[in-house]
Amino acid sequence: MIEIQNLKYRYSKTTPAVLKGANAVFEKGKISVLLGLNGSGKTTLIKLLAGLYRPNEGQIRYEGRSTEGMSIKERSRRIAYVAQQFGRTDDFTVSDYMLFSAANRVKIYEQPNEDETALVKATAERFGASQLLDKKLGEISGGERQIVSIAAAVVQKTDVILLDEPTSSLDICNQYNVLSVLKELAEIEKKTIILSSHNPNHALFLNATVFLLHNGSIVDSGKASKIVVPDRLKLMYGNYIVFSKDLRYSEISFSK
Ligand code: ADP
Repeated sequence: MIEIQNLKYRYSKTTPAVLKGANAVFEKGKISVLLGLNGSGKTTLIKLLAGLYRPNEGQIRYEGRSTEGMSIKERSRRIAYVAQQFGRTDDFTVSDYMLFSAANRVKIYEQPNEDETALVKATAERFGASQLLDKKLGEISGGERQIVSIAAAVVQKTDVILLDEPTSSLDICNQYNVLSVLKELAEIEKKTIILSSHNPNHALFLNATVFLLHNGSIVDSGKASKIVVPDRLKLMYGNYIVFSKDLRYSEISFSK
């Protein structure tokens, strides 16, 4: 279980607080989805959870333990973080890049063993990305890099995976593939997954717990089936939000 209590964060003394006392409990072995308008603080919250920023006030607790005292090594063994923008275009191959994620358990001067190499291959396959393994990071598309960065987080073998808009650059097939793997990781491997999204339908597909971030606070939360309905979402999106069944046109979506 990950708990945030009265979390406050501002980027500088002269700018307004982005988080104004957020409270939430993210359940272990489940998927939690953060929904909120642009600029509502989703990225900031995920970076705080990843330990990249320190809160001005309040607490973040992993299984009751504050993140403040965790070393970088320990954090890398417990928490994987997938940033929204994956800008790296170095000369590394996808395969080598994914193998770097095993560094959290390989001793200094030691080579990753065959198990690690096999895990990289199996994980790439799981994400439908085997054909990318021998390519260089600079020679694949932005969407492909997004998939590779998510796959690399899985190679890190942590209990917790944080993902900032993991489907933002993906076509609808890959959105479906990535969300399906994340669902499996939670349901079968009992990973705790927290992600942000601009698509409320993704929370429904994942059968996730939803947290609505608005004006620096978590203003509503609960099972997606309860929260992702026009009445509960209009607080954020305004009065005009409807289900596609209420419209005269049909919306393309994927079935479960
Ligand atoms: P979201 O992910 O929900 O779009 P963010 O967490 O990225 O929101 O941003 C929340 C607010 O914090 C925005 O108003 C944004 O302008 C501000 N912000 C984000 N990053 C920085 C930064 N590095 N310095 C100053 N303000 C920032």
